[in-house]
Amino acid sequence: MLSINDALHQVLEQAKKIREKREAIANTVSIDNALGLTLACDQISTIDVPPADNSAMDGYAINTRTLGDNPTKMIVSQTVAAGHAPQALSDATAARIFTGAEIPANADAVVMQEQCEVQGDHVVVPANIPVQNNIRKQGQDIKTGDCILKQGHRLRPQDIGLLASIGIAKVSVYQPLTVAILSTGDELVEPGNTLSSGKIFNSNRYLLKGFLQKLNFNVLDLGVVEDTLAATKASLKKAASSADCIISTGGVSVGDEDHVKNAVTELGSLDVWRIALKPGKPLAFGAIDNTPFFGLPGNPVSTFVTFLLFVKPFLSLQQGQNNHKPKAMQMKVNFSNKANPKRQEYIRVKFNNGELELFPNQSSGVLSSVVQADGLGVIPIGQAIKPGDTIEYISFDEFYR
Ligand code: AMP
Ligand code: MG
Repeated sequence: MLSINDALHQVLEQAKKIREKREAIANTVSIDNALGLTLACDQISTIDVPPADNSAMDGYAINTRTLGDNPTKMIVSQTVAAGHAPQALSDATAARIFTGAEIPANADAVVMQEQCEVQGDHVVVPANIPVQNNIRKQGQDIKTGDCILKQGHRLRPQDIGLLASIGIAKVSVYQPLTVAILSTGDELVEPGNTLSSGKIFNSNRYLLKGFLQKLNFNVLDLGVVEDTLAATKASLKKAASSADCIISTGGVSVGDEDHVKNAVTELGSLDVWRIALKPGKPLAFGAIDNTPFFGLPGNPVSTFVTFLLFVKPFLSLQQGQNNHKPKAMQMKVNFSNKANPKRQEYIRVKFNNGELELFPNQSSGVLSSVVQADGLGVIPIGQAIKPGDTIEYISFDEFYR
């Protein structure tokens, strides 16, 4: 059996090679439409944020040198609201100022209004106000010339906000990859139809489509492929000519009478791996006319796990993203799990009071397990688990980045 790391290494090396060979297409899009897309170049700020010192409070802007050892009474010489340009502060006066308003030249602190006493058109300001009190410094967030986001970063809502904060309205992003999906299996029936004896509904198709949509790839959905070599080859040829990657499900188990294997081998090349992984032992990886091909196992949980562990990082890299590794954390468990002498297990677990709880049915056919769970617990080969032990945990959210 191939180790998970070796399989992932081979897959990622291939993704790098494809990226080097193919010229990535970049498009300019408005930041309104850039969510989830991948930056094609570094984003450098041409301004300071904030662009000038401004007030963190509603209060009075003063110059601390004009304060005495006791509270000082001064005339209020101007009012500065956010969005309006201030005048330089006249000597020994205070400026009424509001949150976000620019600090007048010659002022070096803001005293919050709760600390001041208004007396007609004068204000009494307490002693001992430190220089820079309640002032947000120019450039405290971003400085001119800073790289705020790197090429290869996939844009999240906060990233779009940051781009807007430096006045960037359009960004250059990589054109999303097109990923073809096809399902194999004579037992499959599409939702909306009636099940007859021996049939099951096709869930993998919708599971994969959902993932790909959530990750902003274009989906070329080839549906269920008729179980003949000719139909399978025709479908794969179409996929290879119009998609950047092809994913099929089902029919890669050992001993399967399967047309996908033969069709891919005839059209291109294919390795069928037995990976030391549970769920998801069989995984096929190959190419048709330089278009990479993944054959995922048919069991829905195996499809889910192999997609997350191998296909997602592959596609992220092929798309030009600079971060394809899910973040893992160490979490305590409240359950026991027998050692698996041969395969690393990815168990479906749920948060419960700061501990991980095991979803009771870990069968690779039980799709409810990935719906009820919050993430995957990683159990290394040969390791038995008992309550109180700490294991590596990866939240499902990590796979949407
Ligand atoms: P296979 O890898 O083709 O041997 O399939 C393994 C198991 O997964 C079988 O029980 C199949 O019925 C099931 N399966 C295969 N494809 C799908 C699918 N698209 N949706 C739901 N179950 C599937
Ligand atoms: Mg099958």
